[in-house]
Amino acid sequence: MSEPDEASLPVLQVMEVEAAVEAARAAFPGWANRSPQERSQVLHRLADLLEQSLEELAQAESKDQGKTVALARAMDIPRSVQNFRFFASSILHHTSECTQMDHVGCLHYTVRTPVGIAGLISPWNLPLYLLTWKIAPAIAAGNTVIAKPSELTSVTAWMMCKLLEKAGVPPGVVNIVFGTGPRVGEALVSHPEVPLISFTGSQPTAERITQLSAPHFKKLCLELGGKNPAIIFEDANLEECVPTTVRSSFANQGEICLCTSRIFVQKRIYSEFLKRFVAATRMWKVGIPSDPSASMGALISKTHLEKVRSYIERARAEGARILCGEGVDTLSLPPGNRGGYFMLPTVITDIKDESRCMKEEIFGPVTCVVPFESEEEVIERANSVKYGLAATVWSSNVGRVHRVAKKLQSGLVWTNCWLIRELNLPFGGMKSSGIGREGAKDSYNFFTEIKTVTVKH
Ligand code: NAD
Repeated sequence: MSEPDEASLPVLQVMEVEAAVEAARAAFPGWANRSPQERSQVLHRLADLLEQSLEELAQAESKDQGKTVALARAMDIPRSVQNFRFFASSILHHTSECTQMDHVGCLHYTVRTPVGIAGLISPWNLPLYLLTWKIAPAIAAGNTVIAKPSELTSVTAWMMCKLLEKAGVPPGVVNIVFGTGPRVGEALVSHPEVPLISFTGSQPTAERITQLSAPHFKKLCLELGGKNPAIIFEDANLEECVPTTVRSSFANQGEICLCTSRIFVQKRIYSEFLKRFVAATRMWKVGIPSDPSASMGALISKTHLEKVRSYIERARAEGARILCGEGVDTLSLPPGNRGGYFMLPTVITDIKDESRCMKEEIFGPVTCVVPFESEEEVIERANSVKYGLAATVWSSNVGRVHRVAKKLQSGLVWTNCWLIRELNLPFGGMKSSGIGREGAKDSYNFFTEIKTVTVKH
């Protein structure tokens, strides 16, 4: 497999989504009837093949998305491999419930069966990583799938198609449809024979998907955006907190739904934190994606870069201070790359909680830092946005860490760390950050139907 320099991919029409549904329908009984062990073996073979192509896939992911090759090599592709290995293993360990009612001579138990054809829709920020996070549990549970990668980043999904066949995934079990959201995505979401949709992406798209699927009462899992707070108490270990918070703010150009974008720092350490944070941010090198010393590559598109910049302009107009980055420091790039969609990681302060920069998801390398006084106050302010995806809490007081974690309206809370994932446990957001959870048990429950059987003896 060679990684493409220039890529052209098909843009499908509604008719071709229909053909995918037919293929998925035909393949479903055979795949659903295979034992979990047989399906698991296929997933393991696919994981091995992806791993053998790790370098080509990492290069392609970087070219397509703008992230550094180093990140694609260390995170995106290894995690895609792990997604298949993880669900290949976890599918072997589910058990069902059973209970007895001796006084009426009954035994009750539950059985789970695959739902049918699963519609899977993923975004552009972690292309193969998020697509495989859906495909793996869906097919492990015996469903057939129609998966739609983002039209902005379809290359690695295209490359994986060849590996699916090689791994022995039967025809029709995984159907990848390429194309735009309004055309291909909507055809999938509104198709009456696709009873379940797993979607990761933005809130406006989720609203549209909810509307289109409502007449069919589809099962929905929605993984959406965030406006994630970091809460830094005065007893935090700044040696660890500062570099981790730089990473949590700017990794993948800030284009991760879990990235920190509001940093609340307790007053006593506010200036010390700011000084260290800005200095560490200035060390976070923006470079061409193939540069091994670069921490950040290019943003996904011109439109997105302009959107991110517009938030900084808005903050400036509101009287906020830009401490480093956009409009303050100079970005140095090789001459051939100066027209690219690069920007410096940017830190904003002196900004009000009501500002749009503090309320809306920017999804770029921009973070706001503000002071707070008390635990009670910071919890209220952290919870004051419509999102509830991820939060980080920094403190050496274990009692406080537990207390604050419990009160935060957030599906995930990392304390004294960031982005350490245990795939067995639920992943997902509260409030406008989504509906449903993903993970070993949660994905299995989502991708299966449960039935209670009562036997009278
Ligand atoms: P997006 O909503 O624009 O697109 C996501 C996918 O939906 C794409 O494949 C797109 O083609 C498709 N789509 C668009 N319109 C559609 C429609 N009308 N019907 C069906 N499908 C449609 O999102 P994006 O810009 O690609 O991704 C960024 C967003 O994703 C951010 O909000 C980010 O926070 C979120 N995200 C969330 C998670 C999470 O796990 N919670 C992870 C990554 C990204």
